[in-house]
Amino acid sequence: PQIFAFGNSLYSTAAEPSSRQRKPLTVPNLIGGSFVNSKSSAFIDVINPATQEVVSQVPLTTNEEFKDAVAAAKKAFPLWRNTPITSRQRIMLKLQELIRRDMDKLALNITTEQGKTLKDAQGDVFRGLEVVEHACGMATIQMGEYVSNVSHGIDTYSIREPLGVCAGICPFNFPAMIPLWMFPMAVTCGNTFILKPSEKDPGASLMLAQLAIEAGLPDGVLNIVHGTQDTVNAICDDEDIKAVSFVGSNIAGMHIYARASAKGKRVQSNMGAKNHAIVMPDASVDATLNALVAAGFGAAGQRCMALSTIVFVGGSKQWESKLLERAKALKVNAGTEPDADLGPVISKQAKDRIHRLIQTGVDSGARLPLDGRSIVVPGYESGNFIGPTLISDVTADMECYKEEIFGPVLLCMEAESLDEAINIVNKNKYGNGASIFTTSGVAARKFQTEIEAGQVGINVPIPVPLPFFSFTGNKASFAGDLNFYGKAGVNFYTQVKTITQQWKDSSGSSGINLAMPTSQ
Ligand code: NAD
Repeated sequence: PQIFAFGNSLYSTAAEPSSRQRKPLTVPNLIGGSFVNSKSSAFIDVINPATQEVVSQVPLTTNEEFKDAVAAAKKAFPLWRNTPITSRQRIMLKLQELIRRDMDKLALNITTEQGKTLKDAQGDVFRGLEVVEHACGMATIQMGEYVSNVSHGIDTYSIREPLGVCAGICPFNFPAMIPLWMFPMAVTCGNTFILKPSEKDPGASLMLAQLAIEAGLPDGVLNIVHGTQDTVNAICDDEDIKAVSFVGSNIAGMHIYARASAKGKRVQSNMGAKNHAIVMPDASVDATLNALVAAGFGAAGQRCMALSTIVFVGGSKQWESKLLERAKALKVNAGTEPDADLGPVISKQAKDRIHRLIQTGVDSGARLPLDGRSIVVPGYESGNFIGPTLISDVTADMECYKEEIFGPVLLCMEAESLDEAINIVNKNKYGNGASIFTTSGVAARKFQTEIEAGQVGINVPIPVPLPFFSFTGNKASFAGDLNFYGKAGVNFYTQVKTITQQWKDSSGSSGINLAMPTSQ
């Protein structure tokens, strides 16, 4: 395989000191096993959000190149689907080993392109690695069913078969984890795959693909095309693509869901969120406040399961001052700096949008006990930094509450009772995650039963299930029927075929019978 140096050292290798910067590297597509530069004349800069340096340039892939990628995936499918499941699993076994080997390189690339801290970037890789580990047991997860003797001499069994060419469209916020939610499950089920990474941070996808090739994935089984709307629309429309996995915003996700479904494709679309934590007055104070701060400000709030709203119930509202102290103590810095708790947000536009949403809160009467908008990080003055921000006295009609902010901003609301708090959460259009902090089993059980969110935490702030379960957002946070990874993920990437077989001695044949066959 061709070797390319993504991410970390494009400007500062020993041979090429940063004072002699060269033209940024062009990010190649991966088509039929070869990393090839696009012939497109249109490119987008991949920008380090801590420094504004151009890390690389990502092409808006031409339609011809896109078609080549789909043709490569289609060509690879017959051989790959007939490759023994044990061989496919073994490639995943090797891939997980290689991901572990290159964990630091992957993390450095993620921090360079996405901005999160190195430790958090390792977590990004690790949560994806767990899906690869899960795919290593695909033969068991994918097992069919069998009922012997459904009628005289007749057995029925079901098998799960791959669909063909599948595609995945990724967001910027988890450059490793989300591609790894997609292609390892899809290809181990026997499909071939077209991956479209986020145009903001494509490096990790390429590094992972290179590792998959090193692990033995045959040419054409995994292909990568870059681009934005046009590439996405081409994926939705292509007759040879059977299923589309999407993770990202609601605007893109609902468009993709509608457009790809209209072409008869399966779609699983994980979208935006507004994740609430209900804090009961009987909760254990220190553990709860630490969890709230970590879940609200980790990854600069750019996780789909980040905590964005706290609902303090009864006496717990007095804890706001302690929350403020903890939030203030967090260190904002470039993700490569060892002391950083949170890094920058992804872009100048994202920063402006977050600033604006904070201001709408203030303008509509909320308090701002902590305002991170004017932060300057020494040495990284042009980075897209926002300090931890707390907005209090928030009400459900405010724009800052209705919109997903996707930044280091925690909203604080109040409720008199658990019923009132649950009602607030349930009225929100999103249904990704919701948590309760309490020492009461009764309150926890009521919350678990009545809350309308797909992923529920009880004293757990970010309840993202491990891959033997599935990622089960609901309401406006998900469109489709079959969720990502776990059994649902296998069902998404396979078609059930149900076979009825008859083997009996034909000497006793009872002649032609035109009535509907029954088992009586
Ligand atoms: P985004 O929707 O802007 O981009 C996601 C992908 O869609 C990218 O590959 C992009 O090129 C493409 N895209 C963007 N706009 C498009 C359009 N109009 N038409 C067609 N394609 C388009 O999302 P993002 O900003 O990269 O990611 C952040 C969002 O992702 C947040 O809303 C976050 O909650 C969500 N997210 C959800 C989950 C989840 O599992 N529910 C996980 C991670 C992120």
